[in-house]
Amino acid sequence: MSERYTKHKRIALYGRLLDKYDWRLQVIVAIEEMAELSQELTTVLRHDGVIDKGRIVEELADCYIMYEQLGMIFGVQEEEFTEMMNKKMEWVEVLTQK
Ligand SMILES: [Mg+2]
Repeated sequence: MSERYTKHKRIALYGRLLDKYDWRLQVIVAIEEMAELSQELTTVLRHDGVIDKGRIVEELADCYIMYEQLGMIFGVQEEEFTEMMNKKMEWVEVLTQK
């Protein structure tokens, strides 16, 4: 992740956003950003796999920013997220065996 915007700095900036804007607005923005990523992905499929990588990177970054904010909004602790990720990855491991 960016050296310029460390996680510590990003969290501080999200805190300022959440002081300025109602959390419900940020949830709406998160939904919109996920929809924008979905639209880029459907565009790729509609154009037979031809990608505009810049657009994909942009929408992934937008979603990542909103993912981090959603974690703050809903009070998700790093440890509980890591634990859930481990469970999910165990399933991926099972799926990819054979
Ligand atoms: Mg976007």
